[in-house]
Amino acid sequence: MSIYNLGSINWDHCYRVSHFVRPGETLMSSSYQLHLGGKGANQSVAAAKAGASIVHIGSVAQGDNAPQKLQSLGVTITGIREHADEATGHALIQIDDQGENAIILHAGANRAQNMQWVAEQLCEAGSQDWLLMQNETNLIVESAELAKSKGMQVAFNPAPMDRELTLRLLDKLDLLIVNQIEAQDLTGTDDLDAAIAQMQHMAPNLALLITLGSAGACHCQGSQRHQVKAFKVDAVDTTAAGDTFIGYFLANISAGQPVSEALRQASAAAAIAVTRAGAIPSIPVQREVADFLA
Ligand code: ADP
Repeated sequence: MSIYNLGSINWDHCYRVSHFVRPGETLMSSSYQLHLGGKGANQSVAAAKAGASIVHIGSVAQGDNAPQKLQSLGVTITGIREHADEATGHALIQIDDQGENAIILHAGANRAQNMQWVAEQLCEAGSQDWLLMQNETNLIVESAELAKSKGMQVAFNPAPMDRELTLRLLDKLDLLIVNQIEAQDLTGTDDLDAAIAQMQHMAPNLALLITLGSAGACHCQGSQRHQVKAFKVDAVDTTAAGDTFIGYFLANISAGQPVSEALRQASAAAAIAVTRAGAIPSIPVQREVADFLA
């Protein structure tokens, strides 16, 4: 069984600056770092490191080496198309002396997916397989419909949240994954029980996975509820904690692990990730998670 992840691939260009650039100003940066990211790529890498067979479906600019980088991290890249007319998704990130940031994000090839291409990548997929999506590409609804018609299971992480799109998708999903803020944006309440009740009222058969930052995570399906506490660690950078959790959770579920074990593995992987700087470099491999839990 495989996980097919229709997701974003971004390059993050990070510049250290004394202050944010002003209109008409040309500003020298004191340092520059280039990181591969995007929620889609992060979640693919997390699932690969968790041991899943993960096929990333997405697109980048012609000649971009992001796919090779993902391949070196264990992701199957046959579903990544090179786009002749679009830039690879990227962010220009200014970080000032106070640690504040100002970001320009260009979706580029991420929002230029092609349905025929997506359909070709899913041609051999069936009921053992999952389609995972975040909200950083186009063709979310169409791809969910196609996956359901093939009997696949569909997981959606509506980040960034689009309430109208998410509500429209609910009856095509098997698993909805949100953090606390997304749950609140979707339901209008910051009370967890009320939010769960509301989501279950909207989609009674849907499984819900709600990550709660340092308070852990909660999985609900019908009357069944599993709650896991976060492991106590010294957090230095919570970037990609949610992506690590999602990749590990789905990898474990698709491998037939029970929900409680998938939550434990995901929680440990995310706890390790928050003790390390960065996004993709912070995601642990399965061996590190096993050692952490031993
Ligand atoms: P997102 O990154 O999408 O905002 P969360 O903040 O909910 O997601 O974090 C995802 C998961 O990462 C949590 O469910 C938890 O397991 C883990 N996590 C986040 N912050 C911490 C922390 N400070 N200590 C330990 N684990 C954490």
